[in-house]
Amino acid sequence: MEIYGLLIDWQMVLHYFLHLGFPFLVAWLFFRKEWKKAGLIMVLTLVVDMDHLLASPVFDPDRCSINFHPLHNYWAIGIYFAGVFYEKTRLVAIGLLLHMSTDLLDCL
Ligand SMILES: [Zn+2]
Repeated sequence: MEIYGLLIDWQMVLHYFLHLGFPFLVAWLFFRKEWKKAGLIMVLTLVVDMDHLLASPVFDPDRCSINFHPLHNYWAIGIYFAGVFYEKTRLVAIGLLLHMSTDLLDCL
């Protein structure tokens, strides 16, 4: 959508909302008592994108991260899924699964 020469990439806006905003919504819905802390923990799982540094080029907007980067492959996602069942790792695991779901949208 172009407004006065300003090009807005809505897919990118959605991507960053899902990475940075949506975890707080999930936290507010399911971890109401400590939603700010829960949301922050989930957003901090963005560090999983450090595995992009192993790739060349580091950033490629047209690349599908899922099954390309080591922490974005199906094995890793299986471990994140298992983490949901343990209270201590639950928030990190949910954050990582939300992250993978968001990255997966870019592969469609
Ligand atoms: Zn990612």
